[in-house]
Amino acid sequence: MDLRYSSADLAFRDQVRAFLDSHLPQDLRAKVLGHLRLSKDDFVRWHRILAQQGWVAPGWPAEFGGPGWTPVQRHIFEEECARAGTPRVMPFGIDMVAPVIMAFGSQEQKEYFLPRILSCEDWWCQGYSEPGAGSDLASLKTTAVRDGDHYVVNGQKTWTTLAQHADMIFCLVRTDSAVRKQEGISFLLVDMHAPGVTVRPIIMLDEDHEVNEVFFDNVRVPVANLVGQENRGWTYAKYLLGHERTGIAAVGRSKRELHFLKRLARREQRNGRPLLEDPLFAAKVADLEIELMALETTVLRVLAQAGKAPGPEASLLKVRGTDIQQTLTELMLEAAGPMALPFDPAFLEGEAEHSVADDDMAAPLAAHYFNYRKTSIYGGSNEIQRNIITQMILGL
Ligand SMILES: Cc1cc2nc3c(=O)[nH]c(=O)nc-3n(C[C@H](O)[C@H](O)[C@H](O)COP(=O)(O)OP(=O)(O)OC[C@H]3O[C@@H](n4cnc5c(N)ncnc54)[C@H](O)[C@@H]3O)c2cc1C
Repeated sequence: MDLRYSSADLAFRDQVRAFLDSHLPQDLRAKVLGHLRLSKDDFVRWHRILAQQGWVAPGWPAEFGGPGWTPVQRHIFEEECARAGTPRVMPFGIDMVAPVIMAFGSQEQKEYFLPRILSCEDWWCQGYSEPGAGSDLASLKTTAVRDGDHYVVNGQKTWTTLAQHADMIFCLVRTDSAVRKQEGISFLLVDMHAPGVTVRPIIMLDEDHEVNEVFFDNVRVPVANLVGQENRGWTYAKYLLGHERTGIAAVGRSKRELHFLKRLARREQRNGRPLLEDPLFAAKVADLEIELMALETTVLRVLAQAGKAPGPEASLLKVRGTDIQQTLTELMLEAAGPMALPFDPAFLEGEAEHSVADDDMAAPLAAHYFNYRKTSIYGGSNEIQRNIITQMILGL
């Protein structure tokens, strides 16, 4: 019996478990649990399986195609997906631009874009950051100048996640340079296939192509693709960031990774004994497990504020959640030792034949460790989150 949930919630959990057991393809599950890289097709396949079931957009109101779940049911769903090892549903369409379109978009934008987001007809990416405008986002310089029924966009975005797959990008652009910087920003939906859009890869520490630079050279964007009012984009941008940070604690995923870490440490030997029985290593794992249990309790307390969007508490969850995720990758690397790199890098793609020396459990872990350095930077860096906690929660 799980005392955290009502019997109705437990029945819902069983329903989700049964669905995942029967619908999550084994090849996708194996890639996720094995820390391998997922292709665009992998993400789209899982998105469409959930869409078919009506479960791809847990946070959407029922009128737009959401399942009408309570916050606790949404939490249970996320936990169960993490536990089962599903691919992530990319947040850029479902969790980021869609709420902004619902709240501030025109009727035409709602009717056109929302069904395409649900069905994954369009892959979206996020065009906020620029060189020189990350933490200080309002300093962005990409311009959009009105020319008849179009805006002409020029400038550069950076760190754009999976832009190489994208059909659409939501961009913050400068439409007035003469006013206070927050007051001259607009929110524009841009077709990534339009003439003048160029995507250049940035290869990360783990040698993966996950982020990009996106250049706009006289790109013509219909005025109909402006969301809300011109120069009010900063308000919409902040609304979106509130949505971005809510699921970021990723407790379910960390619980799954903790389980993986223990399996690995039980298998690895140190001084003739399983590593997990080494007192120093066992103490590190225990510390982490306690931190994770405390975070889970905090998440449930935040959820208990029914109906209230998380405020500065979201910053707390982000900092603790990402600290835990990074520590997990460090301990996995420590446990795997020299076997944490694949002999054949194509092994990480999960497709190519791999060397007999590749250790299925250990070989992806160095790449995984390097990749997870990102978590304390994106979604608003942890230093910025600590500033928010200091000012808004501690009142200092
Ligand atoms: C893997 C990855 C994916 C990303 N995906 C996207 C995406 O899809 N779309 C998008 O728009 N952006 C994306 N980003 C960008 C991300 O939002 C920015 O990297 C982040 O906001 C930090 O900005 P910056 O990199 O310009 O660093 P800077 O703002 O230059 O900060 C540099 C350092 O200084 C610290 N710092 C800055 N200001 C302060 C302050 N006031 N107080 C204390 N410390 C401070 C920061 O914490 C950081 O450690 C992604 C980033 C990464 C790493």
